[in-house]
Amino acid sequence: MTAKEIRESFKSFFESKGHLIVPSAPMVVKDDPTLMFTNAGMNQFKDIILGNATPKSRRQADTQKCLRVSGKHNDLEEVGHDTYHHTMFEMLGNWSFGDYFKKEAISWAWEYIVDVLKINPEDLYATVFEGSKEEGLERDNEAAQIWEQFLPKDHIINGNKHDNFWEMGDTGPCGPCSELHVDSRSKEEKAKVPGRELVNKDDPQVIEIWNLVFMQYNRKADGSLEGLPAKVIDTGMGFERLVRTLQGKTSNYDTDIFQPLIKVMADMAGCKYGEDEKKDIALRVIVDHLRAIAFAIADGQLPSNAKAGYVIRRILRRAVRYGYTFLGQKEAFIYKLVPTLVAEMGDAFPELPAQQKLIMKVMQEEESSFLRTLENGIKLLQGVIDEAKEKGKKEISGEKAFTLFDTFGFPLDLTELICREQEMGVDEKGFDECMQQQKDRARNAAQVQLGDWVVVNENDNDNENGSISEFVGYDNTEYPAHIVKYREVTQKKGSVFEVILDKTPFYGEMGGEVGDSGVLVSEYEEVKVVDTKKENGIAIHILKKMPEHPEAEFMACVDVESRRAIEANHTCTHLLDQALREVLGTHVEQKGSLVTADGLRFDFSHFEKMTPEQIREVEHIVNERIRQNIPLEEFRDYPIEEAKKLGAIALFGEKYGDKVRVVKFGDSVEFCGGCHAKSTGCLGMIRITSESSIAAGIRRIEAITGKEVENLFDITQDFMNNLRSLLNNAPDLMATIKKAIAENKELQSQVEEFKSQNAKKLKETLIEKAREVNGVKVISGVVPLDPQLAKDIAFQLRAQFPENLLVAIGSVYNEKPTLTVSLSDNLVKDGKNAGQIVREAAKLIQGGGGGQPHFATAGGKNCDDLKTAVTKIIELAKL
Ligand code: ATP
Ligand code: MG
Repeated sequence: MTAKEIRESFKSFFESKGHLIVPSAPMVVKDDPTLMFTNAGMNQFKDIILGNATPKSRRQADTQKCLRVSGKHNDLEEVGHDTYHHTMFEMLGNWSFGDYFKKEAISWAWEYIVDVLKINPEDLYATVFEGSKEEGLERDNEAAQIWEQFLPKDHIINGNKHDNFWEMGDTGPCGPCSELHVDSRSKEEKAKVPGRELVNKDDPQVIEIWNLVFMQYNRKADGSLEGLPAKVIDTGMGFERLVRTLQGKTSNYDTDIFQPLIKVMADMAGCKYGEDEKKDIALRVIVDHLRAIAFAIADGQLPSNAKAGYVIRRILRRAVRYGYTFLGQKEAFIYKLVPTLVAEMGDAFPELPAQQKLIMKVMQEEESSFLRTLENGIKLLQGVIDEAKEKGKKEISGEKAFTLFDTFGFPLDLTELICREQEMGVDEKGFDECMQQQKDRARNAAQVQLGDWVVVNENDNDNENGSISEFVGYDNTEYPAHIVKYREVTQKKGSVFEVILDKTPFYGEMGGEVGDSGVLVSEYEEVKVVDTKKENGIAIHILKKMPEHPEAEFMACVDVESRRAIEANHTCTHLLDQALREVLGTHVEQKGSLVTADGLRFDFSHFEKMTPEQIREVEHIVNERIRQNIPLEEFRDYPIEEAKKLGAIALFGEKYGDKVRVVKFGDSVEFCGGCHAKSTGCLGMIRITSESSIAAGIRRIEAITGKEVENLFDITQDFMNNLRSLLNNAPDLMATIKKAIAENKELQSQVEEFKSQNAKKLKETLIEKAREVNGVKVISGVVPLDPQLAKDIAFQLRAQFPENLLVAIGSVYNEKPTLTVSLSDNLVKDGKNAGQIVREAAKLIQGGGGGQPHFATAGGKNCDDLKTAVTKIIELAKL
């Protein structure tokens, strides 16, 4: 079976068992503060599992793009070195939300693996939770008994809490799990060591393929467990591992998922896969990471230096580094594999071909810039090594290695490799300590304590979406509401309360649009809502203080003025998007957006700087549509297929259900869940305030509307008026300013001329006053002069009197004293030194300076003693 056929067979098997097949959620997570990337199939069902939403169907199945490179699941360092962990992989899963439980989950897993896929049952082992005294939990005998119907007892293995008790996080749903392992060793090896001894022992040929999780408890903040009202089945099977098993391979990389990519990369590097272990690891790292990076960019996550973007940057750098060190790649190379990836996976994931050009451009730029960093890092490292060697050391300090890693992105293993080549080591312990210290700092800064949810008013979720909280804010800014539940969140900065309302007009921050603020008013009191966030589909109201009567009925009131400004800016974003596509072309795709009451920011794919004419044109188009006062047409709960027929613009990396909301203003049609103006006239006017680049192939526009434009015009107008009155209300401002500039230029050259004449006169006076001391001409005096001119004069005098000359000028300029000393060359030869002389004399003017033996200057603070200082110079010259 090919990879594609295997994917389809899983779906159709569970469809035949009454499951609804749903699409994969995006890999980049947008509305869960605890998670940057999807790392398991269950992520997208979190709100259902937590009881915050009702499922569309109690049985569902899918294949989910996962990324395990950060947080609780981080396999990054394994990837490439072993043959069965990936950064990005597909997880096949089936779910029961309060429907079937262990019996069906295990039987169907068996039926699929053994009856449908024909994997040899003798190669299979199942693990069950052995129980835990400290938790007061027994062995999962229920699961064991079901497995016994299929497997001999010696193929059922007890596992501890670490492997066989699954938890979503520190709190929340959890329960025992059973894993299915496959032994794919040769007959001879199996005869030597029975497979049961290798289960969960990191043997690359006895690996876990499927984990069946039986969620039946809820972990509370105090660590105790309580029963879960609606039990959940959550299973996850690694697609790449399954394919490898079915294709009879001993490595995931030998399947048709990876071979085409490895072939292209090996050709590029002029090597063959399977001949040199080091090169093989590099090839595996590169083809694995390529997928993760390309999918992340396609989902809208660009590499950057913070959060999710930084994780992607690190993955890319790891791949570049392996290619650089082991495959001799000195120029960007990974991006060249993108066409092969698109050819292989583009059918199943249309976001790839649609954005191929952008993906390649972004990758190429990132790669090139990191390769430059590598080169600089190597130079720096060489300096560190040389210094350590000079001091007779055998290793470089962990601190230096850490600085290279942290500041220059220079990985430790590369530092070690380069050191080893020069018979040096790295103090790894010191490195680890620095790393730990940094982590501790980050953790302390970000530590959050979540209290348990306190239920105030039970809610029966009897609205259309089955959610415990219904959003009514498209039509209302005020609405009667009850608090369903709340919890306290404590952070370093202090604590706040998160409150969920049964019905709310407050928009929770989402899709770039900021959350609403406002108040909750009851017959007893009024409390402020400082912000609203959206988490797993639910609006969380942030309060600094809980009401004293939380059970009361409230009027939830949004700050209307702020909301109207936000709406205008959101609508403006749509008009801007459309105008950009008209002016620049349909390759323009939204890549980021921020909508606030003060203005908007819009990031989009486009490969060059916009010209001032293009910016004007876009503004004019948008303003024209604002003047047309186009009314909002809104399609709520609209079937997605119908929406596509309307020509609605969908965003990559966004999760859409079967029913969507479409927002239409004339020809601008977008999938959008945000708040909008009732008609475009409410926007007043748009003004683009900046256009810039934020990454390869991505531009950013900042713009304002309505009142903010009015403010901007006021400021500009005031400025112009002030300027005009400054210029005596000149009728033609431009001509007046031009004239002033020309006049100024003329005056400046006159001043220069005057200054140099003055200097010439001064020089002549100085020469007239010159004395002879022991055959040396001493030209000295205190004069009002710019230090630069004093220097010029000194050099002119040196040229005029090439022998036996001492110049000692004290000058005052801008109330600051300067000493200038110059000696003819023959005096320098005799051992006299202008630098030393001026340094000594400068003490008298409370200053310092220096220079060369034939010419030196010094500045100071005290003008009064300048004359004494000049005399001192002549004295110090010992003529
Ligand atoms: P392992 O112990 O092998 O790392 P796990 O216990 O982390 O696996 P689960 O969290 O139970 O795995 O995930 C469910 C399934 O997803 C696993 O049985 C496996 O088939 C697959 N899987 C997990 N991590 C990876 C990975 N990094 N790459 C590919 N497949 C994976
Ligand atoms: Mg794991």
